[in-house]
Amino acid sequence: MLEFDQAQAQLADAAPAPSSSRTETVALAELPGRVLAVDLQATLDLPPADNSAMDGYAIRHADFRPGVRLPIQQRVYAGDMPQPLAPGQATRLFTGSLVPDGADTIVIQEDTREADGHVEILREPTRGEFVRKRGEDTHAGRPLLPAGTLLQAAHVALLASQGLAQAPVYPRLKIGVLTTGDELVPPGAERQPQQIYNSNAGMLGALVQGMGAELRHALHARDNEADLIDALRTLATDCDLVISVGGVSVGERDLVKPAIAALGGDLALWKVRMKPGKPVALANILGKPLVCLPGNPVSSYAVFLLLVTPMLRRMQGRSEIYPPVGRAILRTDRPLQDSREEFVRVQARPLPDGGAELVPYGNQGSHVVSSLPWATGLARLPAGVPVHDGAVVPYYDLRHWLA
Ligand code: AMP
Ligand code: MG
Repeated sequence: MLEFDQAQAQLADAAPAPSSSRTETVALAELPGRVLAVDLQATLDLPPADNSAMDGYAIRHADFRPGVRLPIQQRVYAGDMPQPLAPGQATRLFTGSLVPDGADTIVIQEDTREADGHVEILREPTRGEFVRKRGEDTHAGRPLLPAGTLLQAAHVALLASQGLAQAPVYPRLKIGVLTTGDELVPPGAERQPQQIYNSNAGMLGALVQGMGAELRHALHARDNEADLIDALRTLATDCDLVISVGGVSVGERDLVKPAIAALGGDLALWKVRMKPGKPVALANILGKPLVCLPGNPVSSYAVFLLLVTPMLRRMQGRSEIYPPVGRAILRTDRPLQDSREEFVRVQARPLPDGGAELVPYGNQGSHVVSSLPWATGLARLPAGVPVHDGAVVPYYDLRHWLA
């Protein structure tokens, strides 16, 4: 039996990183959610020139004396090019206006009185005050962003500030999802009493898209080898990563394993000491990785989050593949204990001190779909020891782990 951390690391290590020779150039507006493929350096000093942080007057600090009135040489609006400041004079300017050569201090307008083309300075300014200096944000040649950065609005702002209209990113990872089972019908179809609706197909599609990957195909195969082989072949041909659900335990109709073998795939089936999640399989078919998840919706959700997302992030080229794990206080009305590490669906409730307490969902059965939208994350409980009310436990927040 593999421990959870070991399984997580082995899956991530088995994942191929994207090739640095296959990148795409993408416009700013399309960058959020994409992964930067090269290290970028700044090419501009920012700010590119000294400018004012406030509405006010630019002066030479040496010209200040109590009660001084300086003639206003010029008015400079943001976007104007100023003349050098003449000695003994002031320049009226505004937030973002360039500071004229010769000026070293901005007096904010609240500390002045303007009349008859002069400005009276009512309070002694500090030398250098309210001047945003050229290069104080960044200098040309400095590192801007490293390869592997998941680009978001903040990075778009940084790239735009350097005048970059586009950036090289890795291609969007193409994922194929295969659900299996004779008992399943698609939502919207007519259901016989012996059938259930397929909840995993839509769920996994949404999960992979939520991580910025492309859902290339979602196929369903009945529980027979020929259908499974066909579907797996299509998915492995068109996709970078294939995720199958169900049909991989030891039942008579669990035919995913023979289908993999028929395609010449090698399969590593792992018993991971975690709950939910029984066996998880990793195979290579037609040169592509295939992860096989348990069929129960809660298990496939949890195993996707815990074991597949680090692997997926690595294949996307992201440098951060393990999101942060928090710590919070578990609330339970009875001690919880299992022989395996357990990942319990919980709702985090904020505490007045800024921390959180974790309330488990009442029914932790791995078929209980109603627990999924309720939960804000998973609490990790150690194996083999009772966990009591008030214990501080690791907390996997969905907002981090499904992004
Ligand atoms: P299996 O691993 O195929 O034996 O599936 C385990 C359990 O999960 C069974 O109760 C299946 O009916 C259920 N299951 C498998 N796939 C799905 C699916 N796509 N949607 C909903 N339930 C599923
Ligand atoms: Mg099945």
